[in-house]
Amino acid sequence: MSSKTKYIFVIGGVLSGVGKGVTTASIGRIFKNRGFNVSAIKIDPYINVDAGTMNPVEHGEVFVTEDGDETDQDLGNYERFLETDIYSFNYMTTGRVYLSVIEKERSMYYKGKCVEVVPHIPMEVIGRIKTAAAKTKAEVMVIEVGGTAGEYQNILFLEAARMMKLENPESVAFVLVSYLPVPGHLGEMKTKPTQYASRTLNASGIQADFIVARGPAALDKPRREKLAVLCGLRSEDDVIAAPDVKSIYEIPQVLEKQKFAELLMKRLKIKPRKLTDKGWDSFVNKIDKIEKSIKIAVVGKYFATGDYTLSDSYISVINAIKHAAWHNGVNAELTWVDAEEYEKNPGKVKELGKYDALIVPGGFGTRGIEGIISAIKYARENNLPYLGLCYGMQLATIEFSRNVLGYKDAHTVECNPKSKNLIINVNLTQADNIKNERYGGTMRLGAYDCDLKPGSHAREQYKTDKISERHRHRYEFDNKYREEMESKGMEVTGVNPQSNLVEIVELKKHPYFVGVQFHPEFKSRFLQPHPLFVGLVRAVLKK
Ligand code: GLN
Repeated sequence: MSSKTKYIFVIGGVLSGVGKGVTTASIGRIFKNRGFNVSAIKIDPYINVDAGTMNPVEHGEVFVTEDGDETDQDLGNYERFLETDIYSFNYMTTGRVYLSVIEKERSMYYKGKCVEVVPHIPMEVIGRIKTAAAKTKAEVMVIEVGGTAGEYQNILFLEAARMMKLENPESVAFVLVSYLPVPGHLGEMKTKPTQYASRTLNASGIQADFIVARGPAALDKPRREKLAVLCGLRSEDDVIAAPDVKSIYEIPQVLEKQKFAELLMKRLKIKPRKLTDKGWDSFVNKIDKIEKSIKIAVVGKYFATGDYTLSDSYISVINAIKHAAWHNGVNAELTWVDAEEYEKNPGKVKELGKYDALIVPGGFGTRGIEGIISAIKYARENNLPYLGLCYGMQLATIEFSRNVLGYKDAHTVECNPKSKNLIINVNLTQADNIKNERYGGTMRLGAYDCDLKPGSHAREQYKTDKISERHRHRYEFDNKYREEMESKGMEVTGVNPQSNLVEIVELKKHPYFVGVQFHPEFKSRFLQPHPLFVGLVRAVLKK
């Protein structure tokens, strides 16, 4: 391997959903705390070229990068933990890898060779990993392989990992994140599934260097010893216990306590560096002592499918609210309100009076939107602090147009193209995309500039005139309605300087009513909360 980058592959065992993404981010963090330049890659085994075309209820949130890629939610954790931007080249899927191999073949890149699944697919994967390492100048690159060992789907990615280790054994380490269940009828932690996972991994030519043992509790010494021997580890210290914790932000501490960074540095022959950045640690300890909390209602759809899905679909929003609250010395208690409840029972919207603030997150389609609109109306009329994210901004302008400007049929083209007052409309590029059914990767995506109006809430919170935020939407506010809307009290306080598109609206006479066409939640980090979420929390505390 040409560069000096060290690669840590994180591979799952036994079952999915045990926190591989957070483990990946946390491993990165313990290196960052020692001053290393760290980056991370997510490899997803599905055929979709990106996560943008997948239903968030099934797949979780679509995380948008600065450069406008629609990626897996794990990349959000990488950014929140590593405090660095993660780009399109930090993400790949089976579809993306195959697509580029096929495109290369069509342009004679392989110079007449027979192009085969092996080695050309793993070679493409390796090429992409090295490109990401070069572009980020990462000293440590943590690579999360989606899925679990033994699946048919990720086998070519494991092959790429195996080939990289073979090429330079001292530059590559393998971490198996496995699960140790405690069956109810036994009440004792079982190691056997992890033994199988390790053996399955062996069948792909990979020997784990470390096992991160997830489970409801920390595994004890006899089990550590057992796993070390039966899974071929060098020492029982190479088994890292990762029991369930209150907050994911505690995981770097959990790893640190077991000297995981030292062990990895030793294994990868990295000149050891001491832990210097203690900011993370002290903030985790600080939030642990917070007792006061504020109550926030989040109204939208995608809520009716149970807690697990829910927290996955809005993971960045949830994190952004928490970050802002913690930095203001309070916890945020979120209540998810299914907008359809307000449609079925309009009087119910009054219950919003028991909350301190309202958030309407991004969304698509018609279901529940009349309920969302009545919730926004309630916030507008009752001085309830409000933050509308993307759809939440669009629907705020529709509510205002209907109930203040008197356009009873005001709507978005997405839901009612026949309305005579399409406050939210389609521009030419998007009309063309829709006509030609070009849906994948064609929304307005990624970072766009925005100029802020002096004296606005947004300007006050950002403390600067020019910002840049990430977008993911197809439709836009129609400037035709701007003047009238502003004259009646809903101001445009953020505009894209290149296109003149409306990016932020605010109510003049309201403690905090801000709607943004972009997704500020993507840029909130554990140690750097987002100004607009901070603004919302401060508005609550001021009351
Ligand atoms: N559905 C709206 C649009 O496409 C808003 C999208 C969003 O909230 N992310 O414009």
